[in-house]
Amino acid sequence: MAVYNPKSLKAEEFINDEEILETLAYAEANKNNEALIDEILEKARPVKTATGCECRGLTHREASVLLACEIPEKIEKMYKIAEEIKLAFYGNRIVIFAPLYLSNYCINGCVYCPYHLKNKHIARRKLTQDEIRAEVIALQDMGHKRLAIESGEDPVNNPIEYILESIKTIYSVHHKNGDIRRVNVNIAATTVENYRKLKEAGIGTYILFQETYHKKSYEELHPTGPKHDYAYHTEAMDRAMEGGIDDVGLGVLFGLEMYKYEFAGLIMHAEHLEAVHGVGPHTISVPRVKKADDIDPDMFDNGIDDDTFTKIAACIRLAVPYTGMIVSTRETEDVRKRLLQVGISQVSGGSRTSVGGYTEEERPHDTEQFDVSDQRSLDEVVKWLMESDHIPSFCTACYRAGRTGDRFMSLCKSGQILNCCHPNALMTLSEYLEDYASPETKKVGYEMIARELGNIPKDSVRKIAEQNIRDIRSSNRRDFRF
Ligand code: SAM
Repeated sequence: MAVYNPKSLKAEEFINDEEILETLAYAEANKNNEALIDEILEKARPVKTATGCECRGLTHREASVLLACEIPEKIEKMYKIAEEIKLAFYGNRIVIFAPLYLSNYCINGCVYCPYHLKNKHIARRKLTQDEIRAEVIALQDMGHKRLAIESGEDPVNNPIEYILESIKTIYSVHHKNGDIRRVNVNIAATTVENYRKLKEAGIGTYILFQETYHKKSYEELHPTGPKHDYAYHTEAMDRAMEGGIDDVGLGVLFGLEMYKYEFAGLIMHAEHLEAVHGVGPHTISVPRVKKADDIDPDMFDNGIDDDTFTKIAACIRLAVPYTGMIVSTRETEDVRKRLLQVGISQVSGGSRTSVGGYTEEERPHDTEQFDVSDQRSLDEVVKWLMESDHIPSFCTACYRAGRTGDRFMSLCKSGQILNCCHPNALMTLSEYLEDYASPETKKVGYEMIARELGNIPKDSVRKIAEQNIRDIRSSNRRDFRF
């Protein structure tokens, strides 16, 4: 039988079923242990240091106790600390991105995804390079600077060469004042060699959702195709890191399996990456399974309500304080609002989940992957964020200045990110307001910028940011950053 070892490179040893089951039993036994819960909450709290702020994070066992706890006052405390952590390390900035679907050809049999091979009535489509250019222009016209490319797994229709060529095309489009400055990639688990090629193509984060950490369920949910191989999928991030990608994004598709099991597995995965590679996940996404073409989420027994979902997000924030957290337009405006209060740091806006969706007016599209719940435009999302005192950030500077992996994490841990990300967020917001915003959004935006400039800790940095924003407003020069 596999023995738990976070430093092992074998899936069944670092995501160890026995250790997860023991963790769940420990969490259940201690869910009303107020003294222990207070101790764990105290450990999670950010503490001031000479240079900034520090957080210790939580182990999967500690975090699982919090997730199991049902005492309302303790849950309120978790939410409060989650928000404190978010504000301490990420300030009130929210990074904005959009997905770009390249192809829905897929040879896998994932039972929750309408792109599965047996679905013969969904339209199959793969964008040509010219179509990608048109999609990117449409995305730039909305104001996007950061994309996550999505593709089904099909070595014949979507080989790695197609993905690499598409990334090159995306970076090559400079329409009016627009450009895409960071391309994150969400494609199937692949080889070290292919990860190396993706790194060389200049990708940002490599994102791969585990879907479920429960091996038996994983195999049942992925009955056919290369994705059936649990170990190959679960060990993908190690191969990505071996291939030189130091920003990786984890995620679980909530609703497929028991959420407490998934949560423990997710935190163990983060611990494993830290133990082996010295850097944890750059981001964690929290997708929930949604209605789609031939998929009814009620087919799965493990759907979670909004309260549980919020608690999961808060517990992730407490456990891995330096990791970015992403919520997509799978969620409604209301749910996104709740999650923003417990530590989310990235949201998508104006998203289309179909192949070619940004250049087609009519909806829903016949290639759509799942129903989008938040159908607002990017302009509406940007204005909404600012009205609840969040700064929408279009910044991609860390990645382009080489602040990735452990370099990003150490900057984040030292609290210095406030002198860097905060002004960058304001400058990129100003670019957005000048080039793409509606008059109302622009008004709200400049009021926010005027207020927020005062929150840049260093005088010299603030003066440069003020000058750069004046330059953005008075000329067509763009892309100012620290
Ligand atoms: N093909 C790649 C793979 O296998 O990992 C990733 C691309 S897929 C477009 C991105 C993600 O969409 C999947 O990892 C899955 O979690 C999610 N997804 C699939 N079906 C979904 C559904 N019905 N509702 C919500 N999310 C879904």
